[in-house]
Amino acid sequence: RAKAEGGNRYALADPDSDARAISRHHLTHHLPAALKGCEFFIEYQPLVKMEDGSIEGAEALVRWSHPRHGVLGPDRFIPLAEHTGLIVPLGRWVLEEAVRQACQWQVRGIGGARPLKINVNLSPRQLHHPELVTDTIAVLEEAGLEPSSLCLEVTETAMIKADENELRPLRELAEYGVGIALDDFGTGYSNLANLRRLPADTLKLDRSFTQGLQRDPADPVDLKIVEGIVSLAHTLQLSVTVEGVETSAQAEQLRELGCDSAQGWFYARPGPPERLPEAV
Ligand code: C2E
Ligand code: MG
Ligand code: MG
Ligand code: MG
Repeated sequence: RAKAEGGNRYALADPDSDARAISRHHLTHHLPAALKGCEFFIEYQPLVKMEDGSIEGAEALVRWSHPRHGVLGPDRFIPLAEHTGLIVPLGRWVLEEAVRQACQWQVRGIGGARPLKINVNLSPRQLHHPELVTDTIAVLEEAGLEPSSLCLEVTETAMIKADENELRPLRELAEYGVGIALDDFGTGYSNLANLRRLPADTLKLDRSFTQGLQRDPADPVDLKIVEGIVSLAHTLQLSVTVEGVETSAQAEQLRELGCDSAQGWFYARPGPPERLPEAV
């Protein structure tokens, strides 16, 4: 069973404080050496099945342990890596590392009868990379992980911008058996009917919706909106994961609204791989 956990092991540098003084230029300039020097590491956050509170997988979230500025969160450097193209080798490293970790958990039988899944985020730039499909399949085969144990998360915004050529690699990976999640759903402006053409099997409802349910009693309109999205997603055969669940009241409400899975501080904060087995 997932259990609520205490503080964060690493306090991410506050983007609003002095850390902002580290220039984008400086960070951008140091990204390649940081990748070579193994300054990146991954924290894992459990994904919980709402029905029984069991852990079905984890999302890999990259961090940069900067030698002078401490631990930087992905919002600080992913956009820069995306801009320079370094996201391709960095993203590949995250994929390899996370897949290797998932294999290790599976071999140790963590998660019980159902094999633990691993979710990895993909940037738009990676969608354009011609080797995405072959690279991903190679990483899975080399590690010996079932494709169905991997889920790639692409934001709704990136997906709706993608044309058929850019969606093709995702379609191919989906056919190969890899799961595809529509991340941060509700922050973009999808034409809802358009959801049908996307190769996704999971919809991750953005944290902003979960926050809307925080008030007690929750705003009835917010409740109706979430209920509507869940029902539409289920009609389209998409499973629904909610992000940013911070309280038991939210968890209970979202479970009643029919959400399938959840992720958030209420269950567990992102943490080092050693901590995941304790949460299961
Ligand atoms: P995301 O994929 O939507 O990941 C969820 C974010 O919500 C994570 O932030 C996580 O730490 C945070 N979070 C989880 N539970 C809670 C909660 O209960 N309350 C609150 N307030 N926050 C919660 P993080 O780790 O800072 O990552 C930010 C974004 O960076 C991710 O958003 C993802 O889009 C991107 N990212 C992370 N790792 C990678 C990566 O390896 N590659 C790419 N391309 N993007 C990544
Ligand atoms: Mg994500
Ligand atoms: Mg998300
Ligand atoms: Mg998000």
